[in-house]
This record gives sequence, C-alpha cells and structure tokens, in this order.
Amino acid sequence: MERLSSPARLMIVSDLDHTMVDHHDPENLSLLRFNSLWEHAYRHDSLLVFSTGRSPTLYKELRKEKPLLTPDVTIMSVGTEITYGNSMVPDNGWVDTLNNKWDLRVVKEETGNFSELTLQAETEQRPHKVSFYVDKSKAHEVTKELSQRLEKRGLDVKIIYSGGMDLDILPQGAGKGQALAYLLKKLKSEGKLPVNTLACGDSGNDAELFSVPDVYGVMVSNAQEELLKWHAENAKDNPKVIHAKERCAGGIIQAIGEFKLGPSLSPRDVSDFLECKADENVNPGHEVVKFFLFYERWRRGEVENSEAYIASLKASCHPGGVFVHPSGAEKSLVDTIDELRKYHGDKQGKKFRVWVDQVLATESAHGTWIVKLDKWEQSGEERRGCTTTVKFTAKEGEGLVWERVDQTWSEESKLKKDDSSWII
Ligand SMILES: [Mg+2]
Repeated sequence: MERLSSPARLMIVSDLDHTMVDHHDPENLSLLRFNSLWEHAYRHDSLLVFSTGRSPTLYKELRKEKPLLTPDVTIMSVGTEITYGNSMVPDNGWVDTLNNKWDLRVVKEETGNFSELTLQAETEQRPHKVSFYVDKSKAHEVTKELSQRLEKRGLDVKIIYSGGMDLDILPQGAGKGQALAYLLKKLKSEGKLPVNTLACGDSGNDAELFSVPDVYGVMVSNAQEELLKWHAENAKDNPKVIHAKERCAGGIIQAIGEFKLGPSLSPRDVSDFLECKADENVNPGHEVVKFFLFYERWRRGEVENSEAYIASLKASCHPGGVFVHPSGAEKSLVDTIDELRKYHGDKQGKKFRVWVDQVLATESAHGTWIVKLDKWEQSGEERRGCTTTVKFTAKEGEGLVWERVDQTWSEESKLKKDDSSWII
C-alpha cells in the first residue's frame, strides 16, 4: 500500500469465487473486461483487495487457473489472514488482534470430542481457522454444543456453517467484515482512507462486507439466495448496496458506473480503440493497455487486417527504437511491428488471450516515461508471462513515442522451451 502517497481514489474489496471469477465462463470474459478497466483507469491511484474464503494454498491454485490481477491486499481464510503486495507480507497487527481469546490447541482438543466432525485437508487448517466437514443434519446441534464447550474454556469464537457441509471455527474478531473494518482503520490512521470503497460478493460470508459503514456494495446478479435473503432483511433500504444485473466481474463494472465511482467503460468494450485518442492528460499506461489488447485482437483476427493499423503503430515508434525479446534476441521496434502482418488471425478460433497486470508509469525525466508491467499470454492450455519495461518520450504535437521495449520471462515461464510463438 506504500506505493500510494495519498488516499486511494477507489478501493475495491472483492470476493473471488463466483464474484471476481465466473466459474461458468471458460473464456473469463467478464474478468478480462475488469482487468483492462482496472489497469487502464485505476491501478495508478487505487487499491485492489481480494477477500476470499480460500486458504493461501487454494488461492494460489486459483491464480494459476484464472487470469487474476495481482491485488494490493489479499485477505484469505475467511478474513483471518491479511497480506500485502506481491510477496504477500503478513499483517502482524491483525494476528495480534485475532489472538484475543483464541487458543488453537484448545479448539483442537474440544473438537476432538465430536465424532460427527471430519477434519478438512491440512492446507485448510490455519493458525486462526480450523475447518471441518459435517453432515447437514448434525450441523446445528454440533455448533451449539461446541460453542458452549469452547466458551467454558475461556475462548470467544465464531462458528460459520456454509455450503451445506463446511464448518469453520474462527476467533470472534475474525471474518471478512472485521478484516475490512481493520484495513480501513489502518488506512485512516495513515491519512489514507480511500475516497470510495466498493465491496463485492455473492454469498453468505460476504454479507459482513456490506455491513461495514460508509462502504458501497454490489451483490452480483448470480448472488446466492442466502445473501439476497440477508439483504432483504437487513439492508433493503440502504441505497449504497445494489443487486447487479450482470454476473460476476460484469456486475462490479456495472456498480462502478451506477455509483459514479469513476470510469466504467472497459477498453475491451471499445471496438476500435486505436481510433480513440486519449483526450485526458498524457498517460503512457493507457497506451500499453490498448496496445496489448489490439495485439490480442490482431492475432485472434478480430480486427481488420488493415495496413492503416500497421502504419499507425509504426508512426508511434521511434525509428531507432529497440525491442528486446524475453529470449534475449534484439531487433528494431519498427521491424517487430512489420512482422505482425504475418500473424494476423493466426489464433482465430483458438484459445488465446492477452492481459496486463500491475501497469505502473513513472516520469523519469521531463517528457520521458518508464512503464513497468507484467504481460501475460494464454495460448491453448499454456500460459506465459514476462516482465515488460517500455520507455516512452512525449513529443510536442505527436503524443507518445515508443522508444524501447524490454522483456524478461517471469520465473515460471523461464522453464518453457519454445520461444517462437511469443511475438511481443
Ligand atoms: Mg463467492
């Protein structure tokens, strides 16, 4: 969060499964629409927070399966673990808060007395979350007796039964709502309370997010009955919470628009974006988002195979501009654009998607910009990523000129042998 020196313009706090991620959409279209909007209009001055019931292990699995962006803050294991940044540095202040009236040893001891409880996988057992499976018919009785026993042992816990089978035991102070309230309080104490916060969810354990004061909320169109029922009973008259008409990440974009929290037109919803010149201030991040989206459409054959596009791209490159391919091979930028011609439509009808993550632009000297980002490409079942650095210069009357592009494979992509399908 240190990368922002002032309050975030928007903080999005979103659940993952069936909210940010649509498991019924193998093309991940709404997620990709959200991604381009975020990187285009929000990354530089806003905060992205994922809040999930998943443990770190299952969260990392989801990130490998789906084109998820890198959040600034990750809240996992039903609000019991808060971590920051890429390297997921844990919040020790939150750990201290959760230790209040909590003793993992005692929880394990007491739950050992219930033969109805089946322990979930080892990866789901966390320092402040103990998880079991229990038959629906036994859940109520077990919950009641267990809470009495734990109370007698001096503990203050929250027992959450969800999905008709999962039973989680957490400290009373834990949960998605409390974790968000803690985060807001922390940001406020640093003088960085976000201007607006939007909570997004689809199921029962997301209800807590919408109860945090002064927070906008969106229940995606596919929200579960339990959340809609909670809303009808508790938040019906709160104009800051809406039930979106669109599914998953599409509903999040819809809410940004309805609440007027900022731009809500994803570059993916603009068909001819090379035509739309930036009317706002110079923003080299925009150029990069638009270029890689064009690149995806070019190879998918979704834009016309037109010389005008190639000419316009070449006109925005410095004649002596250099491109360093992740393999280390160096060539001229203009030649790289020329070569694009032969790849028009080569991925037509195939699974091929391109997205960018963590696009950050800094002005290194007057009129010179460095944009750093991670570029990802999904081709069939294979996914590769590289760190990309683009140097731009702003020329009077000509807009931004691409001077140099450097790419290096990400850790996991280094191991793959064939470099030939990676163009830029
Ligand atoms: Mg969910």
